[in-house]
Formats: sequence, structure tokens, C-alpha cells
Amino acid sequence: MISPMGGLDGLDDLYEAIILDHYHNPRNKNFIKDPDFDEEINNPFCGDELRIQAKIIDDKVKEISVSGRGCAISQASASLLAEYAEGKKINEIFHAVDIVRSMLKGEEISEEDRDNIKDIDALQGVRKFPIRIKCALLGWTGFYDLVNANRGYS
Ligand code: ZN
Repeated sequence: MISPMGGLDGLDDLYEAIILDHYHNPRNKNFIKDPDFDEEINNPFCGDELRIQAKIIDDKVKEISVSGRGCAISQASASLLAEYAEGKKINEIFHAVDIVRSMLKGEEISEEDRDNIKDIDALQGVRKFPIRIKCALLGWTGFYDLVNANRGYS
């Protein structure tokens, strides 16, 4: 039987459930009107593709859309970003990007940060699969780069 996780057997059951849920039911994937940016990014190592759109008002993400195709980890991680970012301030989201990066590097994260990111901590299971770390980071670092590249949005 082929694993729906594409060779990620051994992921903690709870993490796997969260990741599969986001993969099968991606959040905030519908395109938005008049986004401040609308860009496609990709991870050539795995073939993952994402399209990220966002409308940002007063340094807050009013609307975000993330859609794409690729492996389960890339798409689930992007969906976690889309869910987390909506309604949040840019600096809060950037802090979450740092937490995701640290988690995937295997660094300790504080109790407070862990509470703050909730389901996103499912991504820490990915560090057991180094080849998938770029997949897990794609949406987060992509969002970070796109916001910085489009700072003139408001
Ligand atoms: Zn991938």
C-alpha cells in the first residue's frame, strides 16, 4: 500500500493527522480581489509550487490566499501559514516564520512560542525527513520574502 505521506511513515500520529488534514482541506486557497501582491514561488528540489496572494492593510494581513501543488508537506505547511496569517500583524507572522525555521533546525522553542503557533508545531515532525525541510519552509520563507519585496503595499 502506498503511504499518503509519500514516504513519511514514522511521523508522529498527531502530527500526521494535522498535516494530512491541511493537505486534504487547504485553508484560504480561494483567490482574493485586488491583492497587494500575487506571486508564484517554487521549490525546484521537489517540484513544489505555490501561488501566494495577500492584501495588507496597516501592517496587518486582511486577506491571504495560498494555493499550489506539490508534496503533502509543502501544501500542508502552506495551508498552516494561510490559516495562521489571516488577520495577523506582519511582525507576528515574521516571528512565526522564525519559529518554524528554528523548529525545523531542531532548536528548542519556548513554551510561549509553542502556545502561540498551536497546530504549526506539527511541522517539527518534518525534521526527521531532512529532504522535506525545504518543502515545509517554502510557504513561510516565500511569504517573508514577498512581503519584504512589496513593502510599498500600503
Ligand atoms: Zn516537497
